Amino acid sequence: MIPVSAQVRSVQRTSVAAECGSQPVSDKYVDFTILFWSYRQVWKRLFAMVNYLLLCSLLMTLFVIGPEPVNALPLTIRVAVQKQVAAVRLTGERLQVRDEKGAVLDVGFPLVARRSGNSVSAGGMRVKALKVSSPGYLRINGKGYRGTTEVTASGKGLLVINEIDLEEYLVGLINCEISSRWPMEVVKAQAVIARSYALFQREARKNQPFHLESTVMDQVYNGCDIEDGRAAAAVAATRHEVLTYNGRVVQAFFHSRCGGHTEASENVWSLTLPYLRGVSCTYCAGSPSSKWEVSLARNKVESLLRAGGYQVRGIREIRPVNRYQSGRIADLEVQSDVGSVFMPAVVFRKLAGYAVIRSTDFEARMMGDSLLFSGNGNGHGVGLCQWGARQQAEEGRSYREILSYYYPGVGLGRIVAD
Ligand SMILES: [Zn+2]
Repeated sequence: MIPVSAQVRSVQRTSVAAECGSQPVSDKYVDFTILFWSYRQVWKRLFAMVNYLLLCSLLMTLFVIGPEPVNALPLTIRVAVQKQVAAVRLTGERLQVRDEKGAVLDVGFPLVARRSGNSVSAGGMRVKALKVSSPGYLRINGKGYRGTTEVTASGKGLLVINEIDLEEYLVGLINCEISSRWPMEVVKAQAVIARSYALFQREARKNQPFHLESTVMDQVYNGCDIEDGRAAAAVAATRHEVLTYNGRVVQAFFHSRCGGHTEASENVWSLTLPYLRGVSCTYCAGSPSSKWEVSLARNKVESLLRAGGYQVRGIREIRPVNRYQSGRIADLEVQSDVGSVFMPAVVFRKLAGYAVIRSTDFEARMMGDSLLFSGNGNGHGVGLCQWGARQQAEEGRSYREILSYYYPGVGLGRIVAD
């Protein structure tokens, strides 16, 4: 069989030969005919050249500029690693420092940056922003951070933002949020949900100075010092994978231990999300600290509630008014000498402190001048239960199975860099 391209060339050659051969040529018309065919060949060559140039332009557009990416997302994120601090100490090797306009600054290290009005003073200079980059990492108050770090004046202190490649950020994050020594499938699940959460917040806060807090307000991130091989392997094995719903990256909330049932998102944040409905989870039952107790002085509870605008004095009882299907308290009543006040349990937990009242599934009883809180679970309860996920991984489930269990109806997508 003749290859297609050979067939095309063969037909073209045959056609040209036939055209030339079919013309009756007399001497009188030789010159004219030759001239005619010369012009015709020139026009054909010009036409071919224009086509060639057009084709080149198209190819340049496709390969140099690139096709429109599907679900294009930038792959660096900005994390606030220090907020409202008076000064930061920067150290490291082969550091390059620039100001807000990109001009290189000749400063020595260690470098202490301080707020000075609306500017930053460091090394005898005053600039609007200090941008430090390193081929390795920069130490901020002793902690290592990759990428580029920007120091600016904000509020009453300094704001330090670390701009970092998303995948590198995740390697450092793993051991802040769980332990990389846990079964690999749960570490991979954590990598996917942390990536999804980060990208969702990146889009939601795209017009703000930074995308993520480095605390439990978003995801805990303490830099690169606690990176290790297993964390890197879990991130690499799930590279660019995110949870999606209807083609969009989801708000992948997670928590430590649900205590028996995860929570629907609207019961915590008045935010109804179809993939955060709450599921039964018996897997975290045997986890350490699943049950907790804390004793608080009655006076202290009263002052915390008054700080939140609730008028209480001489608390007699705190009792649940109603509970959600998960067992967590929806609303509670605080009875005191000045009457009763009602509040959502999530508000009570916020006022008392998230680390003190570890979940809203609790009982409270008076013990003399103190209140004893006995609770179940740890965290808001929405999305993936980390200790439950760990148990599922130990029972042989894959990270994909674990994710589909805690986020019903989600898909696994892959982001495309632009
Ligand atoms: Zn659980």
